[in-house]
Amino acid sequence: MKNARNFYINGAWVAPVAARDLDVIDPSSEEVCATISIGDEADTNAAVASARSAFDTWSQTSKADRLALLNRIAEVYTAHEADLIEAISVEMGAPTSVSQEDQYGSGIWHIEGITKALEDYEFEAPLSDDEMILHEPIGVCALITPWNWPMNQIVLKVIAALAAGCTMVLKPSEIAPLSALVFTKIMHEAGVPAGVYNMVNGDGPGVGSQLSAHPDVDMVSFTGSTRAGILISKAAADSVKRVALELGGKGSNIIFADARPEAVQDGATFCFHNTGQSCDCAARMLVERSRYDDAVEQARLVAENTKTGPAREDGTQMGPLVSHVHFDKVQGLIQQGINEGARLVAGGPGRPDGLNRGYFTRPTVFADVTPDMEIWKQEIFGPVLAIMPFDTEEEAIRLANDTEYGLSNFIQTTDRDRAHRIAGRLRSGQVQINGAAMSAAAPFGGYKQSGNGREGGRFGLEEFLEVKVIPGWDV
Ligand code: NAD
Repeated sequence: MKNARNFYINGAWVAPVAARDLDVIDPSSEEVCATISIGDEADTNAAVASARSAFDTWSQTSKADRLALLNRIAEVYTAHEADLIEAISVEMGAPTSVSQEDQYGSGIWHIEGITKALEDYEFEAPLSDDEMILHEPIGVCALITPWNWPMNQIVLKVIAALAAGCTMVLKPSEIAPLSALVFTKIMHEAGVPAGVYNMVNGDGPGVGSQLSAHPDVDMVSFTGSTRAGILISKAAADSVKRVALELGGKGSNIIFADARPEAVQDGATFCFHNTGQSCDCAARMLVERSRYDDAVEQARLVAENTKTGPAREDGTQMGPLVSHVHFDKVQGLIQQGINEGARLVAGGPGRPDGLNRGYFTRPTVFADVTPDMEIWKQEIFGPVLAIMPFDTEEEAIRLANDTEYGLSNFIQTTDRDRAHRIAGRLRSGQVQINGAAMSAAAPFGGYKQSGNGREGGRFGLEEFLEVKVIPGWDV
């Protein structure tokens, strides 16, 4: 891939100050599929300086100028659809259909959603007869993204920061950096002014930490693990940056006896989607006791009928896990579920039959899980569904809220009053009823250790804005 070893600083592809290579591994084959560079302090400083020098001009651009740029980016993004789909499948193992419809698709969906939010947004609004409120770009932003939904995360940050009038340095995940390289090409072709968008590859302890602590960075917007989110918050504290965090999750899907017939099947399918590597994955399934045995059986069937295979092989529904390290972690937790006495209903340790190479894991279902088990408590981030019965609404709410996370929960019932009552008591940023989809305008983010910000639409745009009040406006 052209420019894989380069960074993008001040409108041009540049070589790292000191060469340090990192191989990117295709998780379907365990083969090296590209080599990137890992940046260091000098690269970080050059990118931040470039963003800083572009801020005065870009922050003063009109809404019309920014809308024109966002529309150009959307056009160029769609023109590179095939490149993005290929890059995502190779770098993180999403099956082609998932890369296309969900991964690539979420990018254009959010570009359009944020563009619409920008169109509607009033950056200047009176508070009283003599007081004006201005919403102004916060400044230079460090955008640090994970590997599991690469385009979704990059677009939610980069496009919202651009729309707000901020300049930025993107540090994509070093595990899945290929789609970010294509995205950077898109930004260049769309004519983003030099210095407004910069991209440096690197790892967390290096470029990630340097950006988080950098005195010339005004805000860090981070998506990734709670572990790294805590480190970033600490690194950012000395310079009192704004820190927006989108972190891990351990969502519950609460299924009542009166739920739609397909509720269990949809829930299990959703749990295995993207190989379970989604922060809003419903990895816990709570089922009202009268429907419990049937639910366990249905979940088993979903697991056993999920076709696992290489990302770019026809018919693959579930690809590999992203890396060797992650494969070992998920395998360890599956074994721990067995050791702790959960009932293994489908899947289990090891690779699926016939797949001896690649980080493939068997779609796994555990029943009779109890709240003290690690598979109930930890974010596994793999295709592992934990099922537990409940008897009362109160018990279901308590079990769902019994987690340090608070990202997404799900309710399945045809009783409208009950759905609304429970939605109001679940401590999470999203509560989906009966599988209803969110719009691009909806806020996405978490309570508790799932983070402290919101992305998407107007909510995501406002993350990158400061609020100024000017009394005496009516001079
Ligand atoms: P990760 O935290 O290991 O890495 C994410 C990014 O942070 C990478 O770019 C990495 O290089 C960087 N990083 C790591 N340590 C850092 C440090 N000390 N300082 C600065 N940067 C650092 O996460 P991951 O394994 O790439 O992604 C999986 C995690 O992301 C899961 O926990 C998942 O739930 C979470 N996630 C959350 C959301 C959300 O919107 N809430 C969305 C997607 C993923």
